[in-house]
Amino acid sequence: MRLRLTIIGLLLGSMFHVQAQADYFYPQAGPFNSEIPTPEEFLGYPIGSHHTRQDQIVSYLQKLAILSNRVSYEIIGETFEHRSQIVAIFTASSNHQQLETIRKKHLDGQITGNTSNLPLVVHLGYNVHGNEPSGSEAALLTAWYLTASENPETKNWLENMIILMDPVINPDGRDRHTHWANMHKGTPPVADPLDREHTEIWPGGRFNHYWFDLNRDWFLGTFPETRNRIAFFHKWRPYVQTDHHEMGTNSTFYFDPGEDASNNPIVPDYLYKKIYPAYAEAFAKATDKLGSLYFTREAYDKLYPGYGSSYINFYGGAGFLFEQASSRGHIQETKTIPITFAFTIRNQFTASLTTLRASLNQKEMLLTMRRSFYKTAKEQQAAAPVKGYVFGDPNDKTRTEAFLSMLLMHEIDVYINDKQMTASGQSFEGGKTYYVPTAQDNYIMVRSVFENDITYIDSSFYDASTWSLIQAYGLPFAALKSEISSGKKLTSVPQMQAKIPEKSAYAYALDNRDYHIFKAIYHLQKSGVIVQTAFRPFTVMEDKKEKTFGRGSLIIPVQQQFLTADSLYQVIRQVAQQTMVDITPLQTGLSTAGIDLGSRFVQTLTPPKVLMIIGTGVSATEAGEIWHLLDQRLQMPITKMDILNLSQADLKRYNTIIMVSGNYSLLDKTITQNIKNWVQAGNTLIALKSGAEWALKNGFTKEKIPVEDSSKKKELRRSDFDEAANIEGAKSLGGSIFQVDLDTTHPIGFGFSNRLQPVYKNGTTLMLPSENPYATVAQYTKNPLIGGYVHPTTLKKIKNAASIIVSKEGNGRVILFADNPNFRGTWYGTNRLFLNALFYCQNLDVPSVRTEETE
Ligand SMILES: [Zn+2]
Repeated sequence: MRLRLTIIGLLLGSMFHVQAQADYFYPQAGPFNSEIPTPEEFLGYPIGSHHTRQDQIVSYLQKLAILSNRVSYEIIGETFEHRSQIVAIFTASSNHQQLETIRKKHLDGQITGNTSNLPLVVHLGYNVHGNEPSGSEAALLTAWYLTASENPETKNWLENMIILMDPVINPDGRDRHTHWANMHKGTPPVADPLDREHTEIWPGGRFNHYWFDLNRDWFLGTFPETRNRIAFFHKWRPYVQTDHHEMGTNSTFYFDPGEDASNNPIVPDYLYKKIYPAYAEAFAKATDKLGSLYFTREAYDKLYPGYGSSYINFYGGAGFLFEQASSRGHIQETKTIPITFAFTIRNQFTASLTTLRASLNQKEMLLTMRRSFYKTAKEQQAAAPVKGYVFGDPNDKTRTEAFLSMLLMHEIDVYINDKQMTASGQSFEGGKTYYVPTAQDNYIMVRSVFENDITYIDSSFYDASTWSLIQAYGLPFAALKSEISSGKKLTSVPQMQAKIPEKSAYAYALDNRDYHIFKAIYHLQKSGVIVQTAFRPFTVMEDKKEKTFGRGSLIIPVQQQFLTADSLYQVIRQVAQQTMVDITPLQTGLSTAGIDLGSRFVQTLTPPKVLMIIGTGVSATEAGEIWHLLDQRLQMPITKMDILNLSQADLKRYNTIIMVSGNYSLLDKTITQNIKNWVQAGNTLIALKSGAEWALKNGFTKEKIPVEDSSKKKELRRSDFDEAANIEGAKSLGGSIFQVDLDTTHPIGFGFSNRLQPVYKNGTTLMLPSENPYATVAQYTKNPLIGGYVHPTTLKKIKNAASIIVSKEGNGRVILFADNPNFRGTWYGTNRLFLNALFYCQNLDVPSVRTEETE
């Protein structure tokens, strides 16, 4: 072993010699302009010998832009951790001089494909997953090559292409991994897969600051990183976009086409039938030359519109995915020879140059693809029964406007619906709801946003099998069979005007239907206001009109406060300004209908003091979704406690513990018992998915998970070896939308006007309905599937199972969610279920059935 490593060390040493390095990465590719520093000269180390920090990548591109008139750059934004998002532009200086003119002409020719006399726009994107670092290092080599090469081919590329480069799509995640790899690097390097360099600690570098996967965010736009990037995408609408990833260390190299079954059926198929096969030939030829092994038509999916390699497909372009076996560090043992960082970079770099070469060669095909894309989309639209969508909830401006903002991000045409109308049994208020006609250029994206079910061919999905955003936002909507005349076209999200209430000497009431009600509760409580809530509706007079407040509306009495009436009014004004929640001053406690303000059905809310368990074994994305929700949308701090620190925690500081999906085996018997005692003493445990299963299996509650009937004799089945992947893969639930019946009289259901609600399910957690009839707050319906794929045997189990249970345990309570209500920061609809659990259930007494003994 030692001998082998020494040889590898020698190989690495010689490989990093300057000339040897050039030969390794750039065989037969001169001459180069010596005025342009190589990445090695700029950084002080050879590419592949060290992980390059994101700020160094930014500096290098800025340096190239100073030294060469082939290069310019744009800072398109900044991450949460204040790293600049840079995009570099490489093209001949003659093109640079009229870049804006070219861009406008290029955009003008989108629909007609009439851009043959213009340079071709190609975008290279790298490192969306922070711990897949070879891409960004390849970006440095590509940047140098495009700047320094005096080769006629390179000059031809620059004359005839505008090459856009996003070198680090996820700067915060990349640097998290960069520091990890560099700080643990040995000299000589250590290839043992279990060395600390190769085993990042939780949450790893894959995700962004809030532990989200940015390679799912192109469709959702939850994050500024993505929003900035999508704005840049639409500014340029490239023909080609690459996305460079890494996969398991023992794999090889992947390039498109993907599996036939993963082609999105609503995207015109010229892309799949012509473009991918043509590029595959070019990639194969280049990769064969290196001697690297690779595969195509396996494993990766192009169904979902939100990947870096698929988003462009929904705008008449071609997205390319590259997946390179990872050295995850500088060198790592594999089942054959050790894989070096330099080797992984070379494949990505070769793929980058090959993309450019193939794109210019296939320019005619790319233009044909774009033309046929818009033509086919138009034909699809003409033949489709749905001609438009009307949607919106005037009582929840925050949620409606978040949805509008997402539509506009995708450049979907949206109009104000200016007439009162009824469709699909729902009424849509004129002037306060919106209309999206299907007859528009971005029809393919409209379908993706609004349809529940895009017909799929196969069952083994890499990811979600449905992604209907209108369901995720939970907004009232209707699909219309004919076009309607509509009002003004939106150019931006309408600016909300805060309605400041008059000062009251008696009480204020807050309508709870707006998404920002929780932000309001948090800020009121933080300011020392006693906040009460109505468990039953009440009606008051406002401006001589009756106004009804639903369950969960807030009541703020003026006299029963530690604050003076003036100070209280100051807080009320601030909350009105910051949240846009509708606040009504009340002069009397006597209601015209429903309960009065002093009713026994009015309860004081206890401020949540939240601890979320995070760390090894816990789902980083689910935890990140909650951190992001409270931090960014409510401006509420949350303690994220590492699982290893729980034994030292004084649990009395908290009244709520959150456990998302995860393996909680690091919690030993003593800690588990401590949490149990803490619940019994009057506190609240909120557990999601496998976190809920952990609570169920560890005796936190009397509720149950379904058990297979072992008395039934199992039929023995025999299948072919090769069928296993398909048969077993089909049983996993990649992500589908199901319908639940929600008890809207329960605090978890407060603020929902409809009992039937969509939930997103991407796990196998199942719970039996409670024996206590009042404890099953949400239950899957008899025919629960709304959209997406589910195996028939799984569907059978989901029917009528419990989706949310609130169970009383001692003086406390356990709230169990079978699904994740905060999925990818986009499920604005079910966010409310989670936030209701957090804010409305602190002192909740779950009713129970009276038995004869107790009577
Ligand atoms: Zn990746």
